[in-house]
Amino acid sequence: MGDGQAVPWEYAPAPESRDIVQLQARYGLFVGGKEVAPRSGQWFTTIDPATEEPLAEVARAGVEDVDHAVSVARRAFKRSWGELPGRERAKYLFRIARILQERSREFAVLETLNGGKPIKESRDVDVPLAAAHFWYYAGWADKLEYAFPNRDPKPLGVAAQVIPWNFPLLMLAWKIAPALAAGNTVVLKPASSTPLSAMLFADVCRQADLPPGVVNIITGPGEIGLALVSHPDVDKVAFTGSTEVGKTIGRAIAGQDKALTLELGGKAANIVFDDAAIDQAIEGVVNGIFFNQGEVCCAGSRLFVQESIAEPFIERLKDRLSTLRVGDPLDKNTDVGAINNAAQLARIDEMVETGVAEGADIYQPACDLPARGFFARPTLFTNVAQSSRIAQEEIFGPVLSVLTFRTPDEAVEKANNTAYGLSAGVWTEKGSRILSIVKKLRAGVVWANTFNRFDPTSPFGGYKESGFGREGGQHGLLAYLDLDGERH
Ligand code: NDP
Repeated sequence: MGDGQAVPWEYAPAPESRDIVQLQARYGLFVGGKEVAPRSGQWFTTIDPATEEPLAEVARAGVEDVDHAVSVARRAFKRSWGELPGRERAKYLFRIARILQERSREFAVLETLNGGKPIKESRDVDVPLAAAHFWYYAGWADKLEYAFPNRDPKPLGVAAQVIPWNFPLLMLAWKIAPALAAGNTVVLKPASSTPLSAMLFADVCRQADLPPGVVNIITGPGEIGLALVSHPDVDKVAFTGSTEVGKTIGRAIAGQDKALTLELGGKAANIVFDDAAIDQAIEGVVNGIFFNQGEVCCAGSRLFVQESIAEPFIERLKDRLSTLRVGDPLDKNTDVGAINNAAQLARIDEMVETGVAEGADIYQPACDLPARGFFARPTLFTNVAQSSRIAQEEIFGPVLSVLTFRTPDEAVEKANNTAYGLSAGVWTEKGSRILSIVKKLRAGVVWANTFNRFDPTSPFGGYKESGFGREGGQHGLLAYLDLDGERH
């Protein structure tokens, strides 16, 4: 084109086929190694958030189903799993890891269909990391006495695990892999909007010949999650989700002799100094907040840019935002998929309106959103006050608030000015500055010159309203072990 006009680049559609997923019309509960109809006799429909089309019916467990699942898990703990030598438990975990890898495409497509996340993320992040967690904890199962020398590590018993909808399979793996490696049995409740990958995982347990009752999966609403964690025969509770529900759970089980870990919300600061590698930082900031539509507890939702580079940095960030492709999550070119559910989309829209009403400047790239499904526009706010709701509250969506700072101390003070403390990021070429800032940031995970990197060997968890306890690494085992027989 010789007339000086820009070439209109368009990506051809590259949809991943959904044929690899064989959906059942109905999914029962997975209890005692088999799928059973709910004793409650009730079912609900789960949908594809990108099209709002129904995918399948899923059992709506009642309190009697919770009782049944917990008693089955207790029996499996007493009769088989709790007594099995670590090296035998490890074989099952290795087997599960291998099957997850073999069936990775099926899991990726299903995770995207039911959750709305882009296929490139479920394919390249969620599923490989879920398998990696099983590989990693399989390796620990027969080495617990080396992990905690001169102690006497024993499993806790029955673990009740409640997980959210943003990383359904990965959160399942974070919960189940260490629990089983340590010798516990589990009853897990996935989120109501994303039950299907957990039901496919039930099939993996059957394929791996896991002894019946070691893993039980029950589906149903939040009140069933509450009934599960409060059940008197549960020894350990692990929850990932909102701070509000985390507090409800904490209150509900107070005074009961249960071990508890809570992984809750966040409002992470991503701090960019003027000496940072700018292109790398732009990519990191974009990944930090638009990965998984920003529905990430550790999302870098508050960007702090050093004042001297703020203007050009924000301009380049806007340019980069305008290249994000929002749309069909099953398309391999999609960067930002569907929001997981209608309630979450309403919350994001409400927070965007709040930002405008509070006087911040809004930037949204021009892009066509699909006519059906739950989609949100990538959004950037500048001129944001520290005290505004968009700088303080977790939005859990593709919305970035940009603030500025002059000195390292000011950056730390502003970054720590939050009720949360899950994660943070620092971008600078100076190693000494990284070390000094990292020590001052009150966050469980701090990334330097990168963001949203996960590894099964590395512990993850928060301070303050982000919860307590660590998942991942050797720390993750501790949450499922009684080290000196104090609990038995
Ligand atoms: P919730 O915390 O309500 O859901 C997480 C899990 O807890 C789901 O399995 C849910 O079941 C279950 N649950 C709900 N209520 C109870 C209860 N009283 N007792 C026990 N379990 C319960 O998250 P939401 O889906 O409501 O999302 C709301 C906000 O939470 C989001 O906007 C976001 O800010 C935050 N959030 C944070 C997450 C994180 O990883 N930190 C993950 C998800 C959300 P069900 O799905 O059936 O309601």
